[in-house]
Amino acid sequence: MQLFQGIHRITTQNAKPLHLYLLTGKERTVLLDTGMASTPKEVILPYFEKIGINTEDPIDVVITHADCDHCGGNHAFNEICPHSSIYGSPSDRILIENPAELMRNRYEAYEKDHGLVYDQETKKWLKETAGFPLPIESIDFTQKWSLEEDWSIEFKELPGHTAGHLMVWDSRHAAAFIGDGVLGHGEYDLEGRLFVPPTYVTVDGYLYSIEQLERLQPDVIFRCHCDPIENENVGRFLKESREWVQAAEAEVKRLIGAHQGISLQEMIDLQENLGQFVLQMDLMYSFAAHLKQLEERNCIYKKKDGEILRYYWGNPV
Ligand SMILES: [Zn+2]
Repeated sequence: MQLFQGIHRITTQNAKPLHLYLLTGKERTVLLDTGMASTPKEVILPYFEKIGINTEDPIDVVITHADCDHCGGNHAFNEICPHSSIYGSPSDRILIENPAELMRNRYEAYEKDHGLVYDQETKKWLKETAGFPLPIESIDFTQKWSLEEDWSIEFKELPGHTAGHLMVWDSRHAAAFIGDGVLGHGEYDLEGRLFVPPTYVTVDGYLYSIEQLERLQPDVIFRCHCDPIENENVGRFLKESREWVQAAEAEVKRLIGAHQGISLQEMIDLQENLGQFVLQMDLMYSFAAHLKQLEERNCIYKKKDGEILRYYWGNPV
């Protein structure tokens, strides 16, 4: 579906809707994200055929971040469009290029110290959608890409959701393509249930990303799992995103204060001020980020209890 002249949205779904954006200038065609392993063949190729894009053409692909529903289609896309180039941020590059690293360093990152393990079905789905390894190129944040006369795009770091999350800024449309970089109060599934909480792995990075968007003042924000956010809703969305972070920090502090020696799993089970999510376990990303920040500020400390970490208020005696 064409949203503006030259801006297309290609939609598929898993539990959530999944939108990929395609920018078709006279000089250059740019695809943002390749989706899941199955997306290029099932969704992108039919869309290209519909609007007359030749798969032999050199298409530039920009991956917003390392997640299996955003870069899992890289290998499959490269087979369909062999003259394409795929770019991602240097900080996410190893995870984007290698699904085994993505599993280990993202989806399995809280297993060893916290005992938080996705169930077998979810793990199988993650592995399948993450696709096959493929080397990519690093994006150069100092370069603008010209799509046609009077239309260029640039790339900005939007860290937090992942270390190397990036956004695409289109000044002609005052449009920010932010992937999953900023997430409001969470994301909804196809049935309208609050599916996942905002997930970020660094608090400072995520707050910087919210500020960056406030500075840019976009007319429209394009996200990957919901409809565009426009005009006066932009400010409201960014404010709500920051407020969620503040509420999460307050909740983590409250839980440690009320339950000395609490584990990450217990925090997720006991939280009551952030909403209920279908994938409640995904609170592990933001909670772990807040724990790390509170530790760095010397507000809390941790101790190993058997295999898992427990958190305490104050300093160790
Ligand atoms: Zn996503």
